[in-house]
Amino acid sequence: MTADTNGNRMADAQSTTDPISPQNIKESTSHLDPSKLIINLTKTPKPLPDPAQLAFGQTFSDHMLVMSYEPNSGWSTPVLQPYQPLQLDPASSCFQYCPNLFEGMKAYLGPDGEPRLFRPNLNMKRMKTSAERVALPPIDADALLTLIKKLVAIEKRWIPRLPGYSLYLRPTMIGTRPSLGVAASNHAMIYVICCPTGPYFGAGTKKISLYAVYDSVRSWPGGTGGYKLGLNYAPTFEPQRRASQKGYNQVLWLLGEEHKITEAGAMNFFIVVKRKDGDLDLITPPLDGTILPGVTRDSVLLLAKSHSREMPLPGLSGSQRLHAHERTLTMRDLQAFGENLLEAFCVGTAAIVAPVDRIGYDDKDIILPSNTPVANALHDRIEAIQEGRFEWENWSVKCE
Ligand SMILES: *Cc1c(COP(=O)(O)O)cnc(C)c1O
Repeated sequence: MTADTNGNRMADAQSTTDPISPQNIKESTSHLDPSKLIINLTKTPKPLPDPAQLAFGQTFSDHMLVMSYEPNSGWSTPVLQPYQPLQLDPASSCFQYCPNLFEGMKAYLGPDGEPRLFRPNLNMKRMKTSAERVALPPIDADALLTLIKKLVAIEKRWIPRLPGYSLYLRPTMIGTRPSLGVAASNHAMIYVICCPTGPYFGAGTKKISLYAVYDSVRSWPGGTGGYKLGLNYAPTFEPQRRASQKGYNQVLWLLGEEHKITEAGAMNFFIVVKRKDGDLDLITPPLDGTILPGVTRDSVLLLAKSHSREMPLPGLSGSQRLHAHERTLTMRDLQAFGENLLEAFCVGTAAIVAPVDRIGYDDKDIILPSNTPVANALHDRIEAIQEGRFEWENWSVKCE
């Protein structure tokens, strides 16, 4: 059995076209085995880019990971190889029915100069769930994480040694079944590519504006909005273009007749509301299947719950408690909070925490106060944990 330069393994036997089901994943098929990794390093390493010139997702590192799955043989030997184009059959399912998914995670340099990942087990778990939703072959999350750590260790020189900079990783899985039949893809490829990246909105905390959209929806009950599937994103580009033309940065996605708030762009949405007792409520919509379960979202909720007199979040008073809620939020609620609506912000791996300055809704703007102490505190604490400057719950994992 041989691996070609794309990590594709030539199948030994005629491949079956049966859809994937636990019964026909044969005993003899091989598992993804990180100990067999073939490392094929580039002979022409690229010059490192000037960090100040980095635009998100446009510069790629020297190497990529590739592995593929065939129904008769299972997972190929994983290969770490120079960054290069893929070779795919034009009939591959990924071009037709879009059984494609991805993850977004970042590697940071710790104070010891060693690379770290932020809660990477959550990304692997989510990737596995996404694969199940589109009936792709099953992923071994632990094996994949071992391989990703190896890739990061090899690409260490690509992590800029500057605060707020990191190496963005894009693990991707595509269906490669070479047949036009409308059926699950029992052939697949996983690859991981890396881009050095800086603070998402440039230096300083630029605020973002949102445009509330309800005539197009991003997700719906029973749909796929809760999974990181490629097919969720193309339908957002036209509404996003409309929002940009009206002068807003991102779409605030609403759902249903009550205009329930779901997410903003490809980020989870939070608000901070002042309570009668002087404490603060931190509110985000619940994971009802229409919301992507973000790693940053989960981290924000847990950090808000940990905020206390003994260990306050940076810049916040420990005597003012933060009450975290996962609760349905409508546009009417947002308007009703009035002066008590203190902050709104969006969270995700790329931006970490991005404060919102206004929300356009039915030709009116809801204006948010310019001070965003809660958003800033959460941003700074998460960044400190990611960069290994603040130890918290083993969230920062070294890549040995
Ligand atoms: C990726 C993504 C997020 C953020 O998830 P993180 O794990 O925090 O990066 C939020 N919403 C959508 C729609 C996403 O695709």
